[in-house]
Amino acid sequence: MGLDDSITYLSGVGPKRAELFNKLGVRTVKDLLYHLPRSYMDFTSPVSINEAALDEYSVIRCKAVKKRSPDLIRKNMKIFRILFTDDEADVTAVIFNSVYLYNQIKEGKWYYLYGRLTGNLTTKEISSPIIFEADGEDKIQPIYPLTQGLSVGIIRRCMKNALMQLENESCETLSRDFIEKNGFMGADAALHAIHFPKSMDDAASARRRLAFDELLVLQLGMLSLKEKNRRLTPYPLKEMPLDKYYEALPFELTGAQRRSIGECISDMTENTPMNRLILGDVGSGKTAVAAALCYFTFLNGCQSCIMAPTEILADQHYATFCRFLEPLGVKIALLKGSMSQKKKADVKEALKNGDLDIAIGTHALLQQSTEFKNLALVITDEQHRFGVQQRKMLVNKGNNPHRLVMSATPIPRTLALMIYGELDISLLDEMPKGRKKILTYAVTGKLRSRAYNFVKDRLDEGRQAYIICPAIEDSQADIKNVTDYAKSLSENGFGSYNIGVLHGQMRSDAKEKIMRDFQNGRTDILVATTVVEVGVDVPNAAVMLIENADRFGLSQLHQLRGRVGRGEYQSYCILIADNAGETSRKRLKALSNSSDGFEISEMDLEIRGPGDFFGSAQHGLPRLKIADLAADADLIRLARAEAEKMYSTGYLKSSDGARLSGAVKRLFESDEPLA
Ligand code: ADP
Ligand code: MG
Repeated sequence: MGLDDSITYLSGVGPKRAELFNKLGVRTVKDLLYHLPRSYMDFTSPVSINEAALDEYSVIRCKAVKKRSPDLIRKNMKIFRILFTDDEADVTAVIFNSVYLYNQIKEGKWYYLYGRLTGNLTTKEISSPIIFEADGEDKIQPIYPLTQGLSVGIIRRCMKNALMQLENESCETLSRDFIEKNGFMGADAALHAIHFPKSMDDAASARRRLAFDELLVLQLGMLSLKEKNRRLTPYPLKEMPLDKYYEALPFELTGAQRRSIGECISDMTENTPMNRLILGDVGSGKTAVAAALCYFTFLNGCQSCIMAPTEILADQHYATFCRFLEPLGVKIALLKGSMSQKKKADVKEALKNGDLDIAIGTHALLQQSTEFKNLALVITDEQHRFGVQQRKMLVNKGNNPHRLVMSATPIPRTLALMIYGELDISLLDEMPKGRKKILTYAVTGKLRSRAYNFVKDRLDEGRQAYIICPAIEDSQADIKNVTDYAKSLSENGFGSYNIGVLHGQMRSDAKEKIMRDFQNGRTDILVATTVVEVGVDVPNAAVMLIENADRFGLSQLHQLRGRVGRGEYQSYCILIADNAGETSRKRLKALSNSSDGFEISEMDLEIRGPGDFFGSAQHGLPRLKIADLAADADLIRLARAEAEKMYSTGYLKSSDGARLSGAVKRLFESDEPLA
């Protein structure tokens, strides 16, 4: 028998039990070993009945004194009550229907009871506790994902048999040196310890080791994807001076912008295509970086294109590119769905025969009839809005061109490694100089009318304002919610202002119209759900008021706040949270004090975990069994570094690396999405 053999080879597992195990996703002996406890019951430090907090889970040590005769509640439903004592206080255990358990308990014997104590100071009850004999061996009991018919007891017995198999066949994948240097447990010891820990520390060390393994395999998978992308590009570009571009710019680039441009150019002068992500906060100046690279491509006699998720954003980029690059002789065109057929055809013709250097557009760029003469650089903006498929289609337009994706969601570097692990990453972590800080205030609903007056004052000065409505799950309610809110505004002293309404259920052309009206100043206030376009510049908008701010993640609030402060005016963000608790007030306070998107994203990851970064949108995070993206940041970094080293030293191809490379292969065979 080997680890990869079916669990039916284990003694105690027949076909019927194997089927039950299959339900839990356990097919082989190895699967069973990696069927890990969700958590543990720790019987090593029980408390006395008096010490146990009411309404919380705890482990108490006590003696069975009196087994009462069962009450028959109704047919097939018996309740058993057993009185326990620890010689200081009493507690009654209530057991539903389990004659078996009831019969096991012996009066006069000591037990551990795990469960939630209820009642009051004099009369205490514990309902459906888990009960163990106090002199039993295993003081820490794992809690497993179970299925009907497979008890903890059965799983533990089978697990013991499976663990014995490790004597013949090790699960170790790492070198002894590496294990020692990083203070890890060996893999086999970790498997023993995670199922049968001697202490909670023991269990924690085991988890740490197995989490590292999981992350390492993922990072190796990412790097192997990266390798696959390394086919030769026909466009290794030549170093060219960009001085003219820098001189023509109306501002000095930040250090981060220059560094990112340098990193990209160094990629693009290689034989293999660039595959890079620029991660920058809102307003960090990604467009100027993109334009520099398009100019660089132009100097090399090649074409580039930029895909934006909406027409407004495409328009905006087009305007910026024309301003920056047309004076330098670069020919730029816009390509979007709403243009006339004739115009589109003209642009396509010019792209095909090389009369145009840069195409900027929406997904219209993806149409089959769009062809390029020599497309060497493909840029996607706000890429999380595009599916992987769309990104691929755009890349297929060219002959293995250089690729750059730009994302305006600052995320912690460790998360970026998990989501974008197959890309190289440049950070735009420095804001252009002279930005006015957006003054942020967190208030309760009591101050709403004052906040409204403040908004009115800004409107009367000629500014515009965004108001983000309370978030509601149900999309139908959402529409009503936004329109009702807008109506209540008119009745609350905003009657003389023009109010636009925007929500997720609108068609995209309707949304664009509302956005444009706001951009052109035809509306004063935009009442919206969180669909407010990412990246749209309305320099005259100076106030962002967010209702129910406590319901949003900090990163999302920071994104929303970034809609203002894009012009010369002092801008404000007002966060209204009606019944925010202590933590949520602290979070909002933290947001008021920081304007660094990366710092905020780290806080968010710590407080709310990784799920929140992209709302409910596809976030591309792999599902992890053991590791925790928030808690294991150090392991993620270590796994990445080690994976890179393994790649560069050819470890995976060596005989020592065979087990790991097998695991990486399986990663791609499984139907779980990697990213
Ligand atoms: P984002 O990274 O959010 O896409 P943009 O590229 O739209 O940011 O830039 C935001 C604004 O900052 C634009 O008006 C742009 O012209 C300006 N900007 C970009 N870089 C600099 C800089 N180095 N100094 C001053 N202003 C800059
Ligand atoms: Mg942008």
